[in-house]
Amino acid sequence: MNFIADLHIHSRFSRATSKALNARHLAAWARCKGISVLGTGDFTHPQWRAELAEQLERDEASGLYRLRGEPEQLDVLAGGPVTNVNAEKPLFMLQAEISSIYKRHGKVRKVHNLIYVRTLEDAEKLSLRLEQIGNLHSDGRPILGLDSRDLLEIMLECAEDAVMIPAHVWTPWFALFGSKSGFDRLTDCYGDLSEHIFALETGLSSDPEMNRLVSQLDGYALVSNSDAHSGANLGREANLFAGQPSYAGIFEALRATARRQPQDALDCRFLGTMEFYPDEGKYHLDGHRACNVVLEPRESRKLGNICPECGKPLTVGVLHRVWELADREEPPLLEHEPEARPLIPLAEVVGEILGVGVTSRRVRERYGSLLRELGPELDILCRMPEQEIRAHWEPLGEAVARMRRGQVFRQGGYDGEYGVVRVFTPEE
Ligand SMILES: [Zn+2]
Ligand SMILES: [Zn+2]
Repeated sequence: MNFIADLHIHSRFSRATSKALNARHLAAWARCKGISVLGTGDFTHPQWRAELAEQLERDEASGLYRLRGEPEQLDVLAGGPVTNVNAEKPLFMLQAEISSIYKRHGKVRKVHNLIYVRTLEDAEKLSLRLEQIGNLHSDGRPILGLDSRDLLEIMLECAEDAVMIPAHVWTPWFALFGSKSGFDRLTDCYGDLSEHIFALETGLSSDPEMNRLVSQLDGYALVSNSDAHSGANLGREANLFAGQPSYAGIFEALRATARRQPQDALDCRFLGTMEFYPDEGKYHLDGHRACNVVLEPRESRKLGNICPECGKPLTVGVLHRVWELADREEPPLLEHEPEARPLIPLAEVVGEILGVGVTSRRVRERYGSLLRELGPELDILCRMPEQEIRAHWEPLGEAVARMRRGQVFRQGGYDGEYGVVRVFTPEE
């Protein structure tokens, strides 16, 4: 059995997130998307943790959690169920994101780290430790004046099998390798504890191919998650595994990937990621949103990374930053490297075919009927045979085929502005 895991999301207790984000709502959207294992987000938040303790029960076989009751009935499905959906309710993995802001090597650093723990007891223990350092109540993604290395140490002291994964490592403002307040080398950030890091989240604005230009990352598994702030955005990037989902199994598979070992003998194997086109991410290219300036790395380098409109330093995007740290021209052939599948959200594809906005009522209705008639979104986009989709709706079959081949038109995002990826030409 293959299964999809989205291991970085947020609850309604994080800033700028949907008020609807509770466990029943998340479980319902996970079904729409075809996600079997979902991060809980925000377990350091006391109210959210209490809610999780009330609404989830432990699934002994996997060491993960499952919703006690039934998932919410979503409006988008107009009363019907998603067809061909996994009969089991999705599993939850306890997950949080910490925003660390601190001084290291004479510079202010801002780094987001994802943390996973196996049990609610471990989540409680770690949260009580962190509460002595900063406020966990005001934001589901708390800001702490705590060095990433020290956060890692505290995490390991609280729970031996807890895992840290640096989040969206290339985003300019809040990431391990970010151009504004990150590091050039992973070991500069995590110091003597660096060996405990074995996976990196590539983020929406980069994909594995770009990351592999940087040889210092060869020994890390590259994962992708949605970082969703609403149900509809779950799974816009995700991870594909084979075998039985479990807390230990998922991380064992990622460790094996990092060590470039074969995974055939494992209960759970990492097959790769489903990737947003990096161009569509908010920080792919360089620029200034307020000045309406967007530049390719080559052009901004010529300008000394200064905005030609306002004369201030540009927001240097992910592509530029990857090239700064890259020591290869082409991605190498690494042993046992998992596969990356490109993805455009189904609602965007439907909106393009219908010629209307992605949030319009027509898109919502068509999206709902596709899930009721064909199955979960990621199944349609990534697994379903092209002919089967064509037989149902020819233009969608054509769009999915082009998307899978990478035959798309791209306009890169920059300085917080999402990019645009289209499947058809305006004439079509
Ligand atoms: Zn983040
Ligand atoms: Zn400017």
